[in-house]
Amino acid sequence: MAKMRGYAMLGIGKVGWIEKDIPDCGPMDAICKPLAIAPCTSDVHTVWEGALGDRDDMLLGHEASAEVVEVGKLVKDFKPGDKVIVPAITPDWNSLEAQAGYATHSHGMLGGWKFSNFKDGVFAEYFHVNDADGNLAHLPEEISVEDATMLSDMVPTGFHGCELADIQFGDKVLVVGIGPVGLMAVAGAALKGAARIYAVGTRPKCIEVAKAYGADEFISYKDGSIAEQILDKTKGIGVDRVVIAGGNVDTMIDAVKAVKPGGKIGNVNYYGKGDYIRVPRIEWGSGMAHKQIVGGLMPGGRLRMEKLGALVAAGKVDVSKMLTHHYEGWDAVEEALNLMREKPDDLIKPVVVL
Ligand code: NDP
Ligand code: ZN
Repeated sequence: MAKMRGYAMLGIGKVGWIEKDIPDCGPMDAICKPLAIAPCTSDVHTVWEGALGDRDDMLLGHEASAEVVEVGKLVKDFKPGDKVIVPAITPDWNSLEAQAGYATHSHGMLGGWKFSNFKDGVFAEYFHVNDADGNLAHLPEEISVEDATMLSDMVPTGFHGCELADIQFGDKVLVVGIGPVGLMAVAGAALKGAARIYAVGTRPKCIEVAKAYGADEFISYKDGSIAEQILDKTKGIGVDRVVIAGGNVDTMIDAVKAVKPGGKIGNVNYYGKGDYIRVPRIEWGSGMAHKQIVGGLMPGGRLRMEKLGALVAAGKVDVSKMLTHHYEGWDAVEEALNLMREKPDDLIKPVVVL
């Protein structure tokens, strides 16, 4: 069987290059080769925090733009040579969960998250995509292969935080975290018509880009309680919506304190550590404040991905502002992933063109 090279998690805290068989293409599937890839904070949680448990020789990565090299005989809308956006989440669209509206949990909680979780990821010469017609999205020619990597996960996740928080025209919105996911939540909140956006984070480059995406005021979690700072800024009233895109298990305490009664908290943060996420009793109205909390994995799906692609192609969101570190060639994957782990001050997102 033909072999390929890929960059893998060898065990918790261990990474390296390995050889594997080129994956088989089922009748509804596609085999793709990456054109550009981006490492993610989630890869760091997976490898160095063991957030998913141990994994043995699992190829990493879930953010890529790609070229289709093979399709199964039942695939209708994609053919070899097509350039595609590859969503990080690739659900089984014929599952009962998909019929219930939660494809991202197809065949079990978080079941749509297959790349670098239940199966090999995209940091490989070739990778497999299940249900190609439902999961791949055509890449508009206006979008570069580098920018397209931001459509795999950063745009859909940040925007999903805004959907979960149900942002309305004129809302005051708190976005916790202004790494790439939080930056896309800021951009999404601005597009959804937020009147004032408060953003939490300290890295100067992220603050500069958050301003460009529409953040109005900044709060540092290093200067004490986020909730107290928000209540100070809002005359004790709080915000209408909170999007959580950073922090730790205690961030929810601040979010509940910072949101008004009837407000909504949309969480897309991935809690890599800690057994419990706590809610403060009094500020949750002893259970009666109508403060809603929803946490969600980004939805994939071709329709959604092509709509988000159209938004980027139309120039409504300039994702290139997030690409601070550019590399070329497979050998750079290791350095790019390490950067994501170290998070130097000038980093938002590295990208590797192949
Ligand atoms: P980053 O690490 O780049 O950004 C995290 C942000 O949170 C930074 O702005 C950081 O501030 C801030 N932060 C750190 N500690 C705290 C704290 N104690 N309180 C408040 N803010 C804090 O992450 P990403 O943007 O890449 O990803 C954000 C999260 O989203 C990750 O957990 C990631 O795994 C998750 N994710 C979830 C997905 C989903 O589908 N739900 C998909 C993809 C990612 P500073 O400026 O100081 O660094
Ligand atoms: Zn990611």
